[in-house]
Amino acid sequence: MRILFADDSRTMRQGLGEQMRAMGHEIVEAHDGRVALELFNKVEPDLVVLDVDMPVMNGYETARQIRAVQGHEWIPIIFLSGNVLDSDVAAGIDAGGDDYLAKPVSAVVLRAKISAMQRITDMRARLVELTREMARINEGLREESTQDALTGIPNRRSFDTAFNQEWNHAVRAGKPLALIIADVDHFKLFNDTYGHQKGDECLRAVAAAMRTAARRKVDMVARYGGEEFAMLLPDTPAVSALLVAGRVLEAVRGARLPHQSSSTSDHVTMSLGVCATMPCAELKPEALVNAADRALYDAKSRGRNQAVLRALQQD
Ligand code: GH3
Ligand code: MG
Ligand code: MG
Repeated sequence: MRILFADDSRTMRQGLGEQMRAMGHEIVEAHDGRVALELFNKVEPDLVVLDVDMPVMNGYETARQIRAVQGHEWIPIIFLSGNVLDSDVAAGIDAGGDDYLAKPVSAVVLRAKISAMQRITDMRARLVELTREMARINEGLREESTQDALTGIPNRRSFDTAFNQEWNHAVRAGKPLALIIADVDHFKLFNDTYGHQKGDECLRAVAAAMRTAARRKVDMVARYGGEEFAMLLPDTPAVSALLVAGRVLEAVRGARLPHQSSSTSDHVTMSLGVCATMPCAELKPEALVNAADRALYDAKSRGRNQAVLRALQQD
């Protein structure tokens, strides 16, 4: 370990310093508290040994200042003193020390205390490493996850997977498949007016409203993008999809989320693009998404707060 050792007595510095060097440690010496503090920032020691009675700045004050500057690091501090009343030990621990040794210090005790501190330092280093590892794992899990963290509904990744599965299933079963893409109206203005936090709450409420509109177990509501949601409705023809879209509009209206800066309504509204088709091998699944997207665009340009149905264009 690199040990910062502060003591105003040259004899102590030489004697104890020698002992600690003999144990294989690197010793950086200081003759008062202020110098110790300066060196602490410079040499980044693994352990600090501080005499309590020193001129300029005593050991307690030095420890306090070390604790104040060290940030997230934790470096063990051992005090040395001729005074070892119970109250001295308590004051030392209070000042941020981890142990307290009485002078004269026996070489055996010093060695034992330094090993104990080393053990704690090693454990702490391992803990820091584990915490970092855990953060990495969490990040990985988040990336692999299928849920949107904000709203708790399936995310874009699970939508894409489900969409392809349902498409293929519909091709085999000869059943229609419907898709609704819904986008919150004037949501940028909502954020600008009420703040991002309220914006997030609004998205959660919208997600919940959409969920209530999707009545069948196989229906999927996913967060498609920022304030855009997708609803996948297996075995659903266009008329039924339009009905579901109507229920979404109603549910969002029913949530009564104030939106004073919207030019469409005094409450939060959504625009919906609806498309349904009979999937077949000759069609690409993207065609359904594109048609729903175009329908959404139409709903926006026709004044928002409405659902528009579009037929799938075969190109
Ligand atoms: P339009 O009626 O045409 O859809 O207008 P708009 O303002 O809703 O659309 P625009 O695409 O201009 O703005 C979308 C806004 O949604 C901008 C973006 O900051 C916000 N947004 C996207 N994701 C989130 C989110 O997770 N939380 C919050 N609070 N805002 C988000
Ligand atoms: Mg929008
Ligand atoms: Mg948008």
